[in-house]
Formats: sequence, C-alpha cells, structure tokens
Amino acid sequence: MPRSVLVTGGNRGIGLAIARELSAAGDLVAVTHRSGQAPDGLFGVTCDVTSQESVDAAFEKAEAEHGPVEVVVANAGITKDTLLAMMKEETFTDVIDTNLTGAYRVAKRAVRPMLRLKRGRIILVSSVVGLLGSAGQANYAASKAGLVGFGRSLARELGSRNITVNIVAPGFVETDMTAVLTEEQQAAIQKQIPLGRQAKVGEVARVVRFLASEDASYITGAVIPVDGGLGMGH
Ligand code: NDP
Repeated sequence: MPRSVLVTGGNRGIGLAIARELSAAGDLVAVTHRSGQAPDGLFGVTCDVTSQESVDAAFEKAEAEHGPVEVVVANAGITKDTLLAMMKEETFTDVIDTNLTGAYRVAKRAVRPMLRLKRGRIILVSSVVGLLGSAGQANYAASKAGLVGFGRSLARELGSRNITVNIVAPGFVETDMTAVLTEEQQAAIQKQIPLGRQAKVGEVARVVRFLASEDASYITGAVIPVDGGLGMGH
C-alpha cells in the first residue's frame, strides 16, 4: 500500500530530492512550498513552518489528497550566519523559529493521526554543525542541536506506539544553501571532509528513504550522519 508522505521545504534542494526518492519508491508524496509552484509531478501544498495554522492547513490538504500522513520529513530550514558579537536577537530567534520550532509545529500536527494509525515515521533534518558547532552559525547550530534532543524525546514518547523518530545530520551538501559560500570558504570546508567532496542531494535522500522504509523498523532516536566523515560519528 502506498503511504501518505509529507516533506516540508520539498520544492528544492535536499527536500525535493527526498520527495522524488520517496515518490519513486511508490509513496504518495506531498511537498510544501512557501511560494511559487509545486515541483513538476509532485503534489504541492503551500506552507510556512513559522505558522501553526499554515502547517495545519498543509496537513489537511495532504490528508484530503493522500490520506493520513504516515511519514513526515521536517526538512525546511534557513541560515542567517553572523558572529555572535554582530548577531541581533531576531537573527537568532528567526533561525530557531524556522528550524526548531518549525519542526515542533510539524511533528505536533503529525502525531495524532499516527497514534490513531498505530504507525508512523518522523524524520528530522539536522546538520553536522549541530553536533560540531560552527563559528558564525551559533543560531543555526543551536537549532540543529535542538532537533537532536527534541527528536530523541519524541522517540521515547512514541516508541511504544510503533512510531519511530530519527534525525539525519548531513554535512556539506550541494544546494542553494551552500552555493552562497565563497569559493575559499567551500575549499576550506572541503579540506576537512575525509571523502574530499560535497554530498549530492540524492546521497542524503536515499538515507531518508531507508529510515522511512520497513528495513529501518527497529531504528529510533538515532542520529545518522551523512557527512563524508566530517563529523566522525558525532
Ligand atoms: P535550501 O535553502 O536549498 O532549501 C530550503 C528549503 O526550506 C526550501 O524549500 C525553503 O522554501 C524551505 N523553507 C525555508 N524556510 C521555510 C519556512 N519558514 N516555511 C516553509 N519552508 C521553508 O536548503 P537545503 O536543501 O540545503 O537544506 C534543507 C535542509 O537540510 C535544511 O534544514 C538545512 O538546514 C539542512 N542541511 C543542509 C545542508 C547543506 O549543506 N545544504 C547541510 C546540513 C543540513 P522556499 O523555497 O520557499 O524558500
């Protein structure tokens, strides 16, 4: 039976690759986009994860089209990099609001139907930076580290209901988010990666597909690095 899947931030980058991967595996995938059009061939719902009403409305549309959401991927995320000395409070709280509180809003809405179904998969997209820290990204790293504690708490709350919650921690992935870095910054990061290159979005998406699959039925509360060795298992 195809499952109903919802991927936030699924209109581009890692989220789009995850949506295409799960759709190719036979799932019924809804992707959220904040503005513009849904990607070709995927069912799109507009959603801003900084608003609970917007998240709730997106789930309602996905449910009306595909049935109760069994797999949710909280992928939407932003960066607003600057050193702490220059970081305004709203630069900190905006990133937390999208990356961490956004995942809370999505998981909160996702859980009740999953409890009724007695199964579900929640996958949170964190980052190696949440575990290693990163100068100039205190806001982003705090949001991504927060997802680990958040996800592991949910794994404990929901495990007995056959709902798994896992965290994927990508390293340096070729997307719009990293394209803004200068060549020098990209080269400096690349030097620290044992595999010596950035990830392709598909390399993250295939790990998410695995975590969403029956093969991962006994994995919960895990942080899975997809970082070419950058974090060395952290
Ligand atoms: P992109 O910048 O390419 O895409 C970000 C996505 O998030 C877009 O779809 C964007 O929508 C969406 N988004 C941002 N804010 C909101 C919001 N308030 N409500 C709804 N959607 C929102 O990023 P990536 O694909 O690179 O990143 C995806 C995830 O992976 C993020 O959580 C990121 O932190 C994480 N990650 C990325 C890494 C990398 O190297 N690229 C490394 C580690 C983790 P819109 O198009 O409307 O802006």
